Parts: sequence; C-alpha cells; structure tokens
Amino acid sequence: MNKKEIEKRKKQLSKSDKLVWDELSATDTQKAFSLAEDYKQFLDTSKTEREAAREIIKQAEKNGFVSIETALKAGSATPHQKIYALNKERCVAMAVLGADPMVDGVNLIASHIDSPRLDLKQNPVYEDTDLALLKTHYYGGIRKYQWLSVPLALHGRIVKGDGESVDIVIGEEASDPVFVVSDLLPHLAGKLQENKKLSEAFEGEKLNLIAGSRPLGSDTVGDRFKLGLLNLLHERYGITETDFVSAELEAVPANKAKDIGLDRSLVGGYGQDDRICAFTQLAALLGTKTPKRTAIGLFFDKEEIGSEGNTGAQSAFMEDFISDLLLLTQGTVDDRTLRKTLINTWALSGDVNAAMDPDFKEVHEKMNAAKLGHGICMTKFTGARGKAGSSDASAEFVGQVRNLFDRNKVVWQTGELGKIDQGGGGTIAKFLAQKGMEILDCGPALLSMHSPFEIASKADIYMTFKGYKAFYA
Ligand code: MN
Ligand code: MN
Repeated sequence: MNKKEIEKRKKQLSKSDKLVWDELSATDTQKAFSLAEDYKQFLDTSKTEREAAREIIKQAEKNGFVSIETALKAGSATPHQKIYALNKERCVAMAVLGADPMVDGVNLIASHIDSPRLDLKQNPVYEDTDLALLKTHYYGGIRKYQWLSVPLALHGRIVKGDGESVDIVIGEEASDPVFVVSDLLPHLAGKLQENKKLSEAFEGEKLNLIAGSRPLGSDTVGDRFKLGLLNLLHERYGITETDFVSAELEAVPANKAKDIGLDRSLVGGYGQDDRICAFTQLAALLGTKTPKRTAIGLFFDKEEIGSEGNTGAQSAFMEDFISDLLLLTQGTVDDRTLRKTLINTWALSGDVNAAMDPDFKEVHEKMNAAKLGHGICMTKFTGARGKAGSSDASAEFVGQVRNLFDRNKVVWQTGELGKIDQGGGGTIAKFLAQKGMEILDCGPALLSMHSPFEIASKADIYMTFKGYKAFYA
C-alpha cells in the first residue's frame, strides 16, 4: 500500500473521536445555546425532587398531557394521547401513546430528580455559643468539605400537628437570607485536621446550619437564641419545634445556575446529576407527537440513596403506570401482558457519567473516560471492582442505540466511571433491567459531580436532547 492508501485505511479502521463543537452548524449552535437557557431555568425552579416533579407536571399539562386519573375515568385512550402520573409528589411518569400495541414493547427513558444535599434532622433546632443552629443529616454521596461556607437555601414541606402542610423556600430570592455551615479558619486548622484522612477531617455531625444569632428575651430565659429562631418560624409559618418531626427540609446551594467561561459554553449549577437528564428527557418527550412505539419518561426519586422507598426506581410505580396504560389501550390487563410489555421494552437509563478532569486525570483511564463536549455518553456498564452492581447492557442493544445515534447525527462517546478499582457507582439501570427490558446508561458527562456547583457542556446537553429525541421517535 502507498502512503495515501494507508491513510485511507487508517481512517477506515480507526475509531475517530468527535467534538460536538466541530459538528454543529450555526443554527444548531444557536439551538444548543437557547436550550441551555431553558435548562438553567429548570435547574433554578427544580432544586428538590418535589419542585422538579411540580415543574415537570406543569410543563406536561401545558403541552396537553392529562393525568392518569382523568384518563382512567374516561375509560380508554387513543394512539398519540399524552398521559402523566404523579407519585406522592416526588416521582413522575409520562407517556405519549404509540400506534403499536404496547405489549410489543415501549421506548422508555428513566432519570432521577433527587440530588445530594443536607436534610434537616427531625430534632434540628438548638443553640450553641450564642448562635441558633439547625442540625442536618446529609443525603446521598457528598464530599463534606464542599458544603462548608457555601450559602444554602432551605426548601421543603412541614406537616403540622393538625395535618396542615406548609411549603417553604428560604434563600432563593435576592432579598432572602441564607443559611451556612461555618468552616475552620486556616490559622487553626493545622493541628486538628492536617494529619487526618480527608474522610475523618470533616464530620457529618459538624454540618450544622447557622440560622440566627438574636435572642428572644433577657439572659434569665434559657435557650433564648433557640427561642428567637422558633419564635420567628412560628410568626412566619405557624410551626412549632415538634413540627420538624413531620417535615422534609432540604438545604441546597442558594446560587442560581450560571454560564461558565468567557465563551459561555458550559453550565454551572447545583443538581445537574441528574436533572440534566430529567430536563433533556422532558424536552424530548414534549416534542414527541406521533411515535410508533409508546414513548415513556420516568423521573424517579431516591436514586442517590439506592433507589429505595415508594418513589424510587425499585418501587412498583413503573409497573403500575404501565399496567394502567395497558388497561386504557387494550381494555384489559393481566400480569402476563405487563411482563411481556416490560420484556419487549427498550430503555435508556438517563444518568450522568464523570468527565475527564484536567486536574485529576489520574483517576480516569483516558482511553475509556468521557470528555466534556464529546456528546452523549453511552455507559455500557457501571458498578465497582469486577463490574459488581452493574446490569451491563448487551452488545446487541448498544449496537442498536449507536446505530440510531449515527443515523440521527447525534454525537456520542463512551465512558467508564474512573479507572478499574478506583471507585465506582451505579444507576437505576440495574433495577429496570431486572424486569427484562434492554437498557443502556446514556447521558452527558459532568465535572465536579455531586458538588454544590456541577459543570456540564452546552454541547453535551444539546446532544443528549437530540439523542433522547431520536430514541423516542
Ligand atoms: Mn445520577
Ligand atoms: Mn449521583
């Protein structure tokens, strides 16, 4: 072979790595930037699973989706009808019915809308050193030091003794006060922390929120700083200390999502794992009008703590929703039909992977690490050590998805979460795989995952949207 032929052969045989920015037309670039604007707004309005569920339902209703209760009352459904279900205000399912019978399988994308944070404990209020404080218990995998000296907002619901519930958001308006966990000054940190392991230097029990410092009454009154806080809470929300027992209050970063970099090519913000997939999946589903196979979007809670509980991916919610849809579309449903539907289903587990970090390259294996700006990332397997805890997608299904992406000009890459034995992690894929469906982890890669300010590429957000859209179509 001559030099030219060898070059040609090289191009033909080697895997080429595409950068999204090189592939985007001017119009597409504009679309990517405009999608990112909607995305930042979604992040700002959806900082908790309840808020995300509310926002998803709001957008669904605006786009003609009706609740499963309404649809069941009507008794039947027609192809291309749009239906949603809300599960305990924290978990959502949406469907655009297809032309094909559901028992031949549906196209499903599932993401999660919970993110790591600091939850208030059930007995949180106390005072110490003339400050009023709130005790927290962290939720999900956090690096504790990242949550110190960061302005935090409090979001959530308090159910009072008489059953009335109060929703609160403090810290999001520009004029709102915020909460903060204090940190140790460097001058005094040496002896206490210098020789400790990182995992021991920062303790969960020290993640307490500063919530006030003005006492109520004179110093003859005991606990008057705590009382000052309780008094304000009572004045504003009518709650007492006991009401925290039946409350879900989450301290989340108070900052808004922002563009990063002079070229504004990146988005920084809290909760992008995994609201980046929830958002792109929602946008893709809202644009799906007449699918052949029924298109379903699932937005789960509790992924960050193992997909547990009645709103997580291990709950019966998905099967209940699909069996309701079967009932609506074929007039009857039995267990066998539901099983067959699930077995014939193709699914993407919409979740994030870790992008190669320029400052921490050593934890990645560069041939198999995802990179920012290289498109939607297919993660064939997750897990730790010898793929423990992974569902490991089949070659056939990965092949099918890859082919779909190529046909639709979706720039994709593959990714493995870190070097072998470096650590690991899982997604909801394995829980859905147990039902028999084909499922592949597919979503963008992030930098600073699980931090209060995660980083994503607008190019990847756009390609994830395009990929999900192609999958539903
Ligand atoms: Mn995730
Ligand atoms: Mn996560």
